Amino acid sequence: MADGNYNSVEVLVVGGGPAGLSCAIQLKLLRPQTEVCVIEKGAEPGNHNLSGAVLEREPIHTLLDAASPGWRDTDIAKDVFASKVDKDDVLFLPGKRFGINIHFAIRLAKMFGLGFGQMTHIGDYSVSISKLTRWLSQIAKQVGVEVLCGFAVADIIVNETGASAVKLVDQGLDKEGHRQPNYIEGETIEAKFIVLAEGCDGLLTEKFVDKAGLKRKVNQLYSVGIKELIKVSPEQYAKFTAGRVIHAMGYPIWTPIIGPGVFGGGIVYAGQAEHLAVGMIVGADWKYHDFNPQDALTLFKGHKRIRRFIERGTVVEAGAKMIPEGGWYAVPRDPAMGTIGKGNVLIIGDSAGFVNMLKIKGLHNAIDSGMTAAKAIADTIEMPNQSAARYTDLILKSNVAKEMKGAAAFRQTVAKFGPLQGMPLSVLGKLLPVFNVEKDYEAMTVGRYRLKPGQNFDKDTFTATAATHHREEQPSHLTILDSEVCRTKCTPKFCSPCITFCPAGVYETVGGVVKPANPSNCLHCKTCQRKCPFDNIRWTAPEGGGGPRYKRM
Ligand code: SF4
Ligand code: SF4
Repeated sequence: MADGNYNSVEVLVVGGGPAGLSCAIQLKLLRPQTEVCVIEKGAEPGNHNLSGAVLEREPIHTLLDAASPGWRDTDIAKDVFASKVDKDDVLFLPGKRFGINIHFAIRLAKMFGLGFGQMTHIGDYSVSISKLTRWLSQIAKQVGVEVLCGFAVADIIVNETGASAVKLVDQGLDKEGHRQPNYIEGETIEAKFIVLAEGCDGLLTEKFVDKAGLKRKVNQLYSVGIKELIKVSPEQYAKFTAGRVIHAMGYPIWTPIIGPGVFGGGIVYAGQAEHLAVGMIVGADWKYHDFNPQDALTLFKGHKRIRRFIERGTVVEAGAKMIPEGGWYAVPRDPAMGTIGKGNVLIIGDSAGFVNMLKIKGLHNAIDSGMTAAKAIADTIEMPNQSAARYTDLILKSNVAKEMKGAAAFRQTVAKFGPLQGMPLSVLGKLLPVFNVEKDYEAMTVGRYRLKPGQNFDKDTFTATAATHHREEQPSHLTILDSEVCRTKCTPKFCSPCITFCPAGVYETVGGVVKPANPSNCLHCKTCQRKCPFDNIRWTAPEGGGGPRYKRM
């Protein structure tokens, strides 16, 4: 990286979210002389980071205390950490009018040491990950990290001891893939250490898992999160209260016996200045071919217990993302060494799958695993091929492994037995065997979702509010592998569900053929790649700088 030459760097972090930036910052603190470069596909830090999220304080405080003493008195800290959770409701919604606060059951579970007792958030921050990421990016630059935005990575060059380099996406191709006068071939960046911190279902991470032969003990499962940030009236905000978070289960995605039977729930988090983040998170193993998570969000927003806080409010930002739910056994490992990564390649944060579904939180683990990776690299700076082993040792001794192991069987148990039996069974925790359930896309059936809002979801406005943008004249980054499968199998049986579930309306039937007709609308959520019932869609990275532009979520 010397003299601005980015073709070779000592430590390359792929992904400029909280995990990657925490790793880069911590490494610079431990070894200031180390060259650390973060590459991020979004045009600016935080553009591709969607929350609202509840953040446990300890890892972020540890990082900030070391990197930016005095941070507590800064305006940016007061802004990012303005919402501290002091009211924590868990609602069960049996139907569209009624709701029962069952937080007492969470407190009881905590008293008896049961897994559900982890689902408490008092004292945490309710944050905008986009804002947090912008702040961490500033700190990273201050401590000497090179943070390069608008750099999308196409591939990783794997060798026997990990990987030697990554290759960036070519720029300046037209829709047919022909070179235009402004064509620039994607550069190859060699690195001594590569940290994969791309977030959920990272393109490079999954390529590395395939090419390097990493294995998961169980299939990774995903959920899809659809979120809106809504400006409400001062009266509604006062009624909600500034430090409150609501997690809701039941209506409109799960009702015992009569269904529907989708795992997940709704959230409402207080933001700042009369903004509330409202979202619906649904397990991507839903079985209804006509289900759209946005419809579930609409119904949730219309529930009597929620509507009063947000009706007549204005949606100022919206977005979609996936969350890795599979837990500890879905973390990819080298089968020979058991390492999370291989040799000089380390996998951190959501890319590894460090989300604790009993807490419904992963941001603290993203930061913690990033700092852990930094320590591992510092410890093995002269032995890069030992870094994944050192990282795994440190993770196994960390709080990340402790809490991930505590929730290890939860999501698979619910997937196998359904919420009604699976939730109570999951309290058996470590006594349960490891269930390897089917991949999300294999769960699709001809069954129909019985609840539908009165009108179709307005995907155009949703996409506009996410401010997503790509250069139109470039090859589509979405590929349908075999159109005949769509025509002869999927459309007759499932009515082309990608058209329904894609939150950005990317897929359409054009001249009788299903196509990714509007790739420039894509929100990079990757739902289509994991939910097409015939595993017939591939998502590749578009030119750097494209995608959503989240600012406040
Ligand atoms: Fe069905 Fe997948 Fe084809 Fe869409 S791309 S029509 S979901 S097979
Ligand atoms: Fe998400 Fe795929 Fe639609 Fe893009 S095309 S917004 S990745 S579902």
